[in-house]
Amino acid sequence: MKNLSDINVIRSVMAKHGVTFNKGLGQNFLIDPDVCPAMAEAAGLDENTCAVEIGPGVGVLTAELAKRAGKVLSFEVDERLLPVLDETLSEFSNVEIINQDILKADLEAIFKEKCNGMDIAVCANLPYYITSPIIMLFLENKLPVKSITVMVQKEAADRLCAEVGSRDAGAVTVAVNYFANSEELFFVPKESFLPPPKVNSEVIRLTVRKEPPVEVADEKFFFKVVKAAFSQRRKTAENSISSGLSVNKSVVADALEKAGLEKTVRAEKLTMENFATLAEILNK
Ligand code: SAM
Repeated sequence: MKNLSDINVIRSVMAKHGVTFNKGLGQNFLIDPDVCPAMAEAAGLDENTCAVEIGPGVGVLTAELAKRAGKVLSFEVDERLLPVLDETLSEFSNVEIINQDILKADLEAIFKEKCNGMDIAVCANLPYYITSPIIMLFLENKLPVKSITVMVQKEAADRLCAEVGSRDAGAVTVAVNYFANSEELFFVPKESFLPPPKVNSEVIRLTVRKEPPVEVADEKFFFKVVKAAFSQRRKTAENSISSGLSVNKSVVADALEKAGLEKTVRAEKLTMENFATLAEILNK
């Protein structure tokens, strides 16, 4: 098998099929030979697991997934890469490339048809321009996924895995923590990619929870409150929730008081329990 993290191999297989890097699709391919095996190991794969990848590129991570999982479903939007993948992954009979935009695919139907009751684990070096939409697609839609082990931009990793109630937290932190346990696994410098991007990266793992950490009667409204609270980070939660939800400031002030919170508190100081209590009170 060809060494798919070798720059010369990547360049020659792409040239053979007339493919050039498409920056707009976040095409930065991994060239550190240690990273893909480590990611595939961290994804906890076995024969009964279907690994789901977003963006195989030339197939460097796909091959490591195929060695460990029963099946690999890999979504690639760039059809120019299909003949490349045909060639680089020819020795694996358990890989299926799906030429679709991951954000537009009917994942529930595809998983039902192709994964056949297997456990599902997502593992991917994500296209960074759609990091949060991809992660939230799996979590919010409650797709039957056990874990999500992905390479993301370092700053995104810090935000996704921050503690709720800390300075790094944002609306996406609350959302991720509501659905999953998050861990930062290892740092990957920008020199590990071809072409090198401007930013460093990190591999993170989200292990999907069986139950959310707080009880929430109306999930949609809970996330509306969270988004509103973080919509104007410099303002107090009172101001941003009131403008984000278009409700009177006195209503929010009253809810904060009932929840035992200071009027001047900012969203980044609120815990998961605080958000749940506030949403409960404001929804009445
Ligand atoms: N896995 C390869 C690696 O690690 O070298 C490539 C990763 S590269 C960062 C991201 C890949 O995602 C590219 O192959 C790109 O074409 C693909 N991609 C970008 N947007 C996509 C989308 N909306 N749906 C599916 N694949 C996408």
